[in-house]
Amino acid sequence: MECPFCSPKKDVILHEDELIRILTDSYPASRGHLLVVPKRHVERWEELTETEKSALIRGMELAIEKLRGTLKPGAFNVGMNLGKAAGQTVPHLHLHVIPRWEGDCAHPRGGVRKAVLDLEDENLNLKERWKRNRMSEEEVERLREALTRG
Ligand SMILES: [Zn+2]
Repeated sequence: MECPFCSPKKDVILHEDELIRILTDSYPASRGHLLVVPKRHVERWEELTETEKSALIRGMELAIEKLRGTLKPGAFNVGMNLGKAAGQTVPHLHLHVIPRWEGDCAHPRGGVRKAVLDLEDENLNLKERWKRNRMSEEEVERLREALTRG
């Protein structure tokens, strides 16, 4: 199957330069949901060059700026699904820019933190979830060490 981000249809392309494209999302989570996509087909963030990473960040800024000027959303969620377990379905890295409006959902609190909520989870006690998801002291320590080592 052809990669939808390597050869996007003309009508979904809003902007492009040598390194990136800004596309409209075909299954928008909100009005104005955009994708910032490197032109080169890479699956993982680590495969990008530093120049491509900067270009993606600039693309995100540009998308936010232009959405602010046109659709005038009140806020944004920005995120990437890195890997299949995180919900990445197209194996071509992409960054979501999701405009948000006051009152567009009943419980906006948490934003991208809700990425791991299944619909049926919504009735789960949040405190229980936080407890279940908390790292052990040993895990925190391992992470701290790894970050300190650089
Ligand atoms: Zn691709």
